[in-house]
Amino acid sequence: MLKVLITGGSGLVGSSIKNIVKENNDNEYIFLSSKKCDLRNEVSVDTFFNECKPDIVIHLANVVAGLYGNINNNYKMLVDNVKINTNILEACKKYKIKRLINILSTCVFGNDLNYPLTSNQMYDKMPDSSNEGYSVSKRFLDTGSKLLTRCSKLQVVNIIPTNLYGLNDNFNLHEGHVLPALIHKCFIAKKNLEERLCKSSDSFNSIGNTSCKLIIKGLGKSLRQFVYAHDLAKIILHFIDCKLEKQFNQLIVGPPVKDEISIKELVNKIVKIFDFNGEIIYDSNFQEGQRKKTVDDSELLTYIPDFKFTPLETGLKKTIDYFIDNYDTVRK
Ligand code: NDP
Repeated sequence: MLKVLITGGSGLVGSSIKNIVKENNDNEYIFLSSKKCDLRNEVSVDTFFNECKPDIVIHLANVVAGLYGNINNNYKMLVDNVKINTNILEACKKYKIKRLINILSTCVFGNDLNYPLTSNQMYDKMPDSSNEGYSVSKRFLDTGSKLLTRCSKLQVVNIIPTNLYGLNDNFNLHEGHVLPALIHKCFIAKKNLEERLCKSSDSFNSIGNTSCKLIIKGLGKSLRQFVYAHDLAKIILHFIDCKLEKQFNQLIVGPPVKDEISIKELVNKIVKIFDFNGEIIYDSNFQEGQRKKTVDDSELLTYIPDFKFTPLETGLKKTIDYFIDNYDTVRK
């Protein structure tokens, strides 16, 4: 039996792992949140590792924000996350952890590279300025873990996923990532529209009210690929005890190129599931972040040849149902 520590255990990916392993007694899983241990604090991390003594570390914890949170807090994103990542690497070294599985992000890649992206292009250009702090802290984790494999027996798997979404996401309208924030916005616009239509016999007046409109920041032209967090959780669990040919491993995790969609297409899918028929406005006063970060599934398939991603429509429906059913308690 392996003792597996999951940092960021209370987040989107952490809770997806928890859902899968709750009936699995093969290993012991410890889900860590910031309340139990602030990973920015070196002493707290050392004390925790000394008491916990894990065999494997799945490192998910990260100070995260959506596009606009990143733009406004780039310095904090860099400093807090470099502290967290340094403390984790140092603890892995000191406590002789067997395997470290890190989650990076396709934000680490600069613009205008060769598409679909390959992990060896990570350092070819600077990351997009919108999320420079967050992305450089991920590059630091990548290089730090690689260098650590050269002076220890630690095995490293650096997973580089595209945008994630799913149950227990952060649906905050300002700090959430694009997909969960859009779900929340559409929910509010639909609710307002229904309430107005109930109160007024004149539906045209009602539709003129801005709270009944779905207002999107930017023109919706950016292209993205989305991975259901449950899928990423399954991939992470595969790497806990699979045989690795190399000590340092890096792989992009994203669906095939054909699954790339614009934010506008994503909005249309969300609106369809909500059956929202109010007005949709794209506000050109807002930035849209990186234009594209196209990946494919080829690196993943070299490790897990038969892996199939959950179709976006299926994952979206489950996530929206979860959001509506748990509206009072969801992270928002
Ligand atoms: P969440 O935002 O859902 O969760 C973040 C987790 O980090 C929480 O468990 C939080 O704990 C923990 N955390 C934050 N600050 C600290 C701290 N100072 N000390 C200890 N723990 C802390 O993240 P996700 O599950 O969405 O992301 C998991 C990983 O995947 C991250 O590394 C992220 O960068 C990466 N990723 C995410 C993408 C996405 O679209 N969501 C896309 C690509 C990569 P608490 O709840 O107690 O605050």
